[in-house]
Amino acid sequence: MSKEPESSDVVTTSQPDEDFNDPGQRFYRVHLDQLTQALDQVSIEDHVQLLLGEPKNEVIVNFPVKMDSGEYELFTGYRIQHNNILGPYKGGMRYHHDVTLAEVKALAALMSYKCALLDVPYGGAKGGIRMHRHKYSDSEIERITRRFTHDLGNNIGPDYDIPGPDMGTNSQTMVWMMDTYVNMHATIDKNAKRRIVTGKSLTSGGSRGREKATGQGVVYAIQEWANETGLRLDGATFTVQGFGNVGSHVGQLLNRLGAKLVAVQDHTGTIYNQEGIYPRKLAQWVDSEGGVKEYKGAEQIDDDEFWAVTCDICVPAAVELQIDEEVARKLDCKVIAEGANGPTTLGGDRVLRERDIDVLPDIMANAGGVVVSYFEWVQNKRSETWQLQEVDNRLNFMMKRAYHEMRAFSREHSVDNRTAALAVALKRINKVYVERGIFP
Ligand code: GLU
Repeated sequence: MSKEPESSDVVTTSQPDEDFNDPGQRFYRVHLDQLTQALDQVSIEDHVQLLLGEPKNEVIVNFPVKMDSGEYELFTGYRIQHNNILGPYKGGMRYHHDVTLAEVKALAALMSYKCALLDVPYGGAKGGIRMHRHKYSDSEIERITRRFTHDLGNNIGPDYDIPGPDMGTNSQTMVWMMDTYVNMHATIDKNAKRRIVTGKSLTSGGSRGREKATGQGVVYAIQEWANETGLRLDGATFTVQGFGNVGSHVGQLLNRLGAKLVAVQDHTGTIYNQEGIYPRKLAQWVDSEGGVKEYKGAEQIDDDEFWAVTCDICVPAAVELQIDEEVARKLDCKVIAEGANGPTTLGGDRVLRERDIDVLPDIMANAGGVVVSYFEWVQNKRSETWQLQEVDNRLNFMMKRAYHEMRAFSREHSVDNRTAALAVALKRINKVYVERGIFP
């Protein structure tokens, strides 16, 4: 059993062995290659390049939890803190069977660049537990979450490292985390440290608009792209991979702008309807049935056919490494808006460039989640509650600014959007390191 850390310095470090059968390792490699491409475009101090290549801290906790059956199971939880030069570490907690150290390392680094690009005063982190989320009852998930939070101890903190939701976790998970942390750090004021976690329910200190924020941000990014390229969203067609928190909101929000959802894929199957799938009804179906399979308002098609569906906008909003060279050759769309983190491989990007398919990269397109997490944290800190309109306006402003900074760099240096987005983020981080220097 792991002991509770006594200070925020207590971390364990482990180096993943290179194993390219592990998708997490491949993802980490793809991330480093993307970073190298961006580093070629900007002049970044050597020591800054060096330190960004590895996370600052890698926290791994192994902990037992009593299951409903009375038996104990041992879980491995991660919290990887990539960088905190711009502000406290920030990033989601993922509960998924593919979670590995290498995967979380890559995701933590993406959070640093996402926050830097959006000019949110946070660093980057990511964490999670390797588990088959659907095998566990709600009360088991509660005990797992509370014990994980306990064992992270002082490696997280309201001004040090602030977890948020990610795949397999939701506002309930965040509230359990918050409640555990607050009780561990007993004060008479139960609300003083609520900002330890974001993505909470509205009733427990969450922000209006946080639930849909990532999807809303994806749609704001698509709107900017559509304005720039002259595509009318009213009447445009789109496909979505993954119909969870990100995909289902993108579906509903784009539909409200008049765009037609023609195909959806998730882990249960693929559905298609040229006349349009009604996203709200599909979201209700997915809530009750657990996936898109056998949804009545569309026909079932082979999973292989999904990427070849003709549409204007394709939104991968599921897991990493989905769009490789082969898939990129099949795609019949004008733009990819990355709701997921890391959905495209290096080869995929190359083919997309050759084929003139635009990409709105993850750290730009899906930043809405962490931006509204930041708003939630600020509201908690100031004991304020903002109206939805205010949250949306501020989010729209920040998404637009990041979009245009990325596009300006891309035009000026003749590089793709992903390289440009990373380059803008790197420049921002580098500037602070140059000003502050390295201690001692
Ligand atoms: N999981 C989200 C992301 O990948 C946001 C996490 C947060 O709000 O901290 O950007």
